[in-house]
Formats: sequence, structure tokens, C-alpha cells
Amino acid sequence: MPALSHPAGPSVTLSGVAKSYTGVVAVAGVSLEIAGGSFVALVGSSGSGKSTLLKTINRLIEPDAGSIAIGGKDVTRGDRHRLRRRIGYVFQNVGLFPHLTVAENVAIGLKLRGDRGTAGRVEQLLALVDLAPAMAMRMPDELSGGQRQRVGVARALATEPGLMLMDEPFGALDPVTRDQLGTAIHALHDRLGLTTIMVTHDMAEALILADRVLVMAAGRIVADTTPQALLAGEGGDAAQALVAVPRAQMRRLAVLGKEP
Ligand code: ADP
Ligand code: MG
Repeated sequence: MPALSHPAGPSVTLSGVAKSYTGVVAVAGVSLEIAGGSFVALVGSSGSGKSTLLKTINRLIEPDAGSIAIGGKDVTRGDRHRLRRRIGYVFQNVGLFPHLTVAENVAIGLKLRGDRGTAGRVEQLLALVDLAPAMAMRMPDELSGGQRQRVGVARALATEPGLMLMDEPFGALDPVTRDQLGTAIHALHDRLGLTTIMVTHDMAEALILADRVLVMAAGRIVADTTPQALLAGEGGDAAQALVAVPRAQMRRLAVLGKEP
């Protein structure tokens, strides 16, 4: 196992965060307290405001109102590029630079902050996401979708952020790869003591990976509870409408399993 020092995952506090686009309220005043070290899933149908809310945390989107504190420190103002170096960000179709090798992609955050001689560090980061050292010299188009996402995760972890934001990180992957990467990300979360906030539209994924599930609808958090409580039928109508999908699949599979 590569030795990597990571700061403990910080707490994240949102107070009255709101963001509108012309004629559309994307996030309608969200207040939240996320404990350091937790794995939170943000679930909701398309257009409910998940991505907008997530991006206010690393200030890819500046909220119209409200404030955000990370590790108890207000980050609403101040240098947002510096802030972003302390926050890992992984999104669907990672956006690796196609003309750079895997190693160069992984090292980009390190180069930006002026690090030199990053080869050893890149190898450690690739090992962390279970990629062989030989992958370092490949180009992104020589990788499978799952491998590309792993490179994206390695890149996000390069600057040793305590906080990881993920926006549908497994969106474009086949179910087996999805499952493998989900397990790998959870193991990393535990091992590095990260605070992880993951956006997904897949309730099954949220239930399996997270220790807290936030359900978003029309720019608001309409449920905030544990996977266990959701499976027990709690959390309200919007949450239960989403839980109904994996539950029905589970029931159908159970029936199939009993058929001769
Ligand atoms: P989700 O990630 O849950 O699918 P988003 O946060 O992307 O939702 O979007 C929330 C709402 O804000 C949607 O109605 C969407 O159309 C709108 N929206 C998002 N980004 C923009 C933008 N750049 N300009 C205008 N409207 C936007
Ligand atoms: Mg989105």
C-alpha cells in the first residue's frame, strides 16, 4: 500500500445557499451540516439542482445567497483557485486531456502548484486506484471507460484533498465496472478518511455506498436520512418514489430466484 498522508476529511456547512438562472430556481436556499469523514449521497431526478448545489461547494458556481464553510472556515470569499486545490472533484466523463499521457493528466494539479519530479507520486496515485505503473505512459483513448474514471479519481486525489466531490462519477459506465469502481471509491474514502459528497440519480448506488442520503427535489433537500431508514420506508414521498425502483427490482429477482 502506498504511503500517502492525507488531512482528515473536513466538515462542510451550507447556510441558506441559493442559486437561480434566468427564470429557473436551481437551488432554493439549502442549509446542511455534513460531518467530517462522512460519505453523503445527493440523489434526485434530473434537473433537481444536485450539480448546481455540489458546484457551489468548490465555487465552480458562485451562489446568489448564503455561505459555505469547510472545516469550520468560511470559504465563500477568498481565492477560489486555492480552495479548489483542497477539494477533489470527479465528474462524469472525467475530462482527461486527450493529448496528455495518463501520468501528465494525474500530475496536472501537482504541476500547477509547482511540484517537480512527480513520477514517484504518480505511481503511488495510480496504485491507489489499482492501476498498474505501465498505465502511466498510455494516452486517455487507450483506456477503457472504467480505467479513465480511475485516472480521474487519481488526479483528484493528487493534491491530497480531504474533501471529495463527485458528480455522477459512474454515469457512463457498464454495471459491473460501476460496481467495482463504487467499491474502490468507498475503500479509498475509508482508508484516507475523506469527506465524500457524491451526486447520483441512482438510488440503489446511494443506498449501497453512502452513510447518509440527501434527496433533492426542485432545488430543496426533501429528505435527509440513512439508507437503513429509507429502506424501512421513511424519508417521505419523494424519497420513497426513488427507493421503489431498487426495491421492485429486488422483489422481481427474489421471485425469479425461486422459480424452478
Ligand atoms: P441536476 O444536476 O439535478 O440534474 P442541475 O443542478 O444541473 O440539476 O440543474 C438544476 C436546474 O437549473 C435545471 O432546471 C437546469 O435546467 C437549470 N440550469 C443548470 N445550469 C444552468 C445554466 N448554466 N443556465 C441555465 N439554467 C441552468
Ligand atoms: Mg447534474
